[in-house]
Amino acid sequence: MDGAKNAEAADLPLLIVSEEVCEAVVSRADAFTAVEAVFGAMAKGDAWNFPVVREALGHADALYGFKSGFDRAGLTLGLKSGGYWPGNMAKGLTNHQSTVALFDPDTGRLQAIVGGNYLTAVRTAASSSVSIAHLARKDAKVIGMIGAGHQSAFQLRAALEQRSFEKVVAWNPDPSMLPRVEAVAKDAGLPFEALERDALCAEADVIITITSAFEPLLMRKWIKPGTHIACMGTDTKGKQEVDPAILMDSTVFTDEVAQSVTIGEAQHAVSSGGLADSAIVPIGDVINGDHPGRSSDNEITLFDGTGVGLQDLVVARVAMDRARAEGRAQSIIL
Ligand code: NAD
Repeated sequence: MDGAKNAEAADLPLLIVSEEVCEAVVSRADAFTAVEAVFGAMAKGDAWNFPVVREALGHADALYGFKSGFDRAGLTLGLKSGGYWPGNMAKGLTNHQSTVALFDPDTGRLQAIVGGNYLTAVRTAASSSVSIAHLARKDAKVIGMIGAGHQSAFQLRAALEQRSFEKVVAWNPDPSMLPRVEAVAKDAGLPFEALERDALCAEADVIITITSAFEPLLMRKWIKPGTHIACMGTDTKGKQEVDPAILMDSTVFTDEVAQSVTIGEAQHAVSSGGLADSAIVPIGDVINGDHPGRSSDNEITLFDGTGVGLQDLVVARVAMDRARAEGRAQSIIL
């Protein structure tokens, strides 16, 4: 009997789930549900990320790394391998390249190889969306976008589903990129206005920053009471999108405190002594009902979305399960 079971397990094919299939089978709602659940599991200690490996290759100017983890609650184990190849655009490829490998947590067997580029965008958008759902004022009407790169459209589309927004305002260092954000607003039937950063902060109730900046783009004096800011661009040591004084005057939430203080937006406020690690709240605590979240309509809340491997793994798991169920995965026997 055991022999038959083992033979069955050994015969299970390795599934290949393409970028195209991921886009077809993983919706924004799926990503939101999966990311919210895993943030909750992380805060309970039921899921954890392993140390991130990120290296400059000394070849093709590339940065390459692994993000991995284990979700014991959802039984998802694996890694995302990927990085940044700045010369790719000239070759007709996106500069960020990601692939997810999922392993059976009971046997260690490789279960699936899943395209990670679409999933990275949709899981990053889900992260800021989860923060908006749990932390933004219920009456938020204007959303402000700082950044107009590849991720920005995914971010805005997902965020618009969290509140009854009535207007989109945006800024980018290169204004010629703003039509990408404007197109999403138009698609949602909302008015769009390009504004300078101080004017954007005066209007916006929710702000998403999604840039590759290395210096503060938003100043403390511009931020009005009650604003929710999701800082999504800072995912590496040295990057920065906002004035550290904003974090000192906010309640700061994050996906993972260890990343927030080392590679996230909070690295600057923490290293200057203005913010204690212990003051940063895992958003999973809010999701689990262990922290009240926003305490008043005047409070500034800031979500430091650093991007953890488990986000990739749980959305890849959805892709694998759906692709298998719908017969859309390619399969091979290793
Ligand atoms: P992209 O290259 O398509 O766009 C970059 C954006 O940043 C553009 O709006 C560009 O104008 C702006 N920008 C570039 N240099 C800048 C500078 N010095 N100052 C201000 N703005 C600048 O990149 P993308 O795929 O949209 O990703 C945006 C950022 O988000 C990147 O930094 C990326 O590493 C980060 N990211 C974070 C996560 C996460 O989970 N937190 C996930 C994916 C990407």
